[in-house]
Amino acid sequence: MTTPLVEMDGDEMTRIIWRMVKDELLLPYIDLKTEYYDLGLEHRNETDDQVTIDSAEATKKYGVAVKCATITPNAARMTEYNLKEMWKSPNGTIRAALDGTVFRAPIIVKGIEPYVRNWEKPITLARHAYGDVYKNTEIKVPGAGKAELVFTGEDGTQIRETIHNFTGPGILQGIHNTDESIRNFAKTCFNYALDTKQDLWFATKDTISKKYDHNFKDIFQEIYDAEYKEKFDAAGIEYFYTLIDDAVARVMRDKGGFIWACKNYDGDVMSDMVSSAFGDLAMMTSVLVSPSGAYEYEAAHGTVQRHYYQYLKGEKTTTNSVATIFAWTGALRKRGELDGISELMQFADKLEKATIQTIEGGKMTKGLSLITSIQNVTVLDCEEFIKAIKATFDAM
Ligand code: NAP
Ligand code: MG
Repeated sequence: MTTPLVEMDGDEMTRIIWRMVKDELLLPYIDLKTEYYDLGLEHRNETDDQVTIDSAEATKKYGVAVKCATITPNAARMTEYNLKEMWKSPNGTIRAALDGTVFRAPIIVKGIEPYVRNWEKPITLARHAYGDVYKNTEIKVPGAGKAELVFTGEDGTQIRETIHNFTGPGILQGIHNTDESIRNFAKTCFNYALDTKQDLWFATKDTISKKYDHNFKDIFQEIYDAEYKEKFDAAGIEYFYTLIDDAVARVMRDKGGFIWACKNYDGDVMSDMVSSAFGDLAMMTSVLVSPSGAYEYEAAHGTVQRHYYQYLKGEKTTTNSVATIFAWTGALRKRGELDGISELMQFADKLEKATIQTIEGGKMTKGLSLITSIQNVTVLDCEEFIKAIKATFDAM
């Protein structure tokens, strides 16, 4: 390696897996170079969360990061870790710093069939991670009265629309987005489609939301026509826009192998649906891509707290390390690609292949054994499964 990966360590069971994956599957084979940031909750607390900001800045500088799952503090964690403050979600901080779009895709293995029978290839969900209902302003309307939407420009001119003349109690919500964020979202999706050579679908409810959703549609189309159409043609891939209702119906009938770009709320809900339908959260990868071309790879699941407390008691756990391994291979492959180190890319490909072959050969953790169609499986604990992958890899 010539450039280091930004390594963001994390919490609980995933922190344990992190160490095992490095020791067993990475360090013996590659000259691993990382710039290490400890995003474990204790260290975030010690540094007043500065370490999270520093790790995001380092990602902008180097371009590729790999992140372990981290605890987002809540009231219970405040006492458990004796925190100075209820620190923000690291993922939220990193996402805001990189203005990124989150792409989630399932890892496909023969013998772990999606619940939707015709899905043969992964469906990647691209979720716009800014605005709309996630940055809303709400009013509980107490009784009769007039609700208006008012915009006051810097020069004082106003645009005013009546929302509703209430004759009794009700509710109100104001939401927004910015052209800049939508543009970044669009570009990141187009780039990712080119990067992974997959078609891109985008869907909103523009027939009903004639200005708000329509603005998303128009910005995507404008950028596509001006900057991407020729590149898509050359790559033999397609971009199309359709209504969200139509997209939902088509996704169910399709074979997969495309990227589905969604507005923030649609992406939140649809990514949970698509990932559950593919079988298992521990078989889901996630990458945050910034419009400037920085990549942060991680597993889609959390820190698996329940397993960690078993581990602390000295018990064996059934934690599945596949998504964590794929976070590393994703980052290493991207680093190899950017630095022109084909050996690193081959290593990433091979380690992924070894992981998949191990499962397809009937060796897996408990969660997968419950949903697989493979007969006579050997159920392994967390550590044994990593060792089994190592054995497959060595044999390859
Ligand atoms: P979670 O860690 O994803 O675990 C929820 C349950 O899903 C687990 O108890 C386990 O079920 C199953 N599971 C998840 N990953 C698994 C794996 N790799 N192998 C086997 N089973 C797995 O979610 P959570 O319990 O809601 O959250 C725990 C902590 O993670 C929280 O502090 C939260 O803030 C944090 N979190 C972080 C991220 C992130 O950093 N990206 C994302 C989500 C949550 P069983 O117990 O039934 O075995
Ligand atoms: Mg959700």
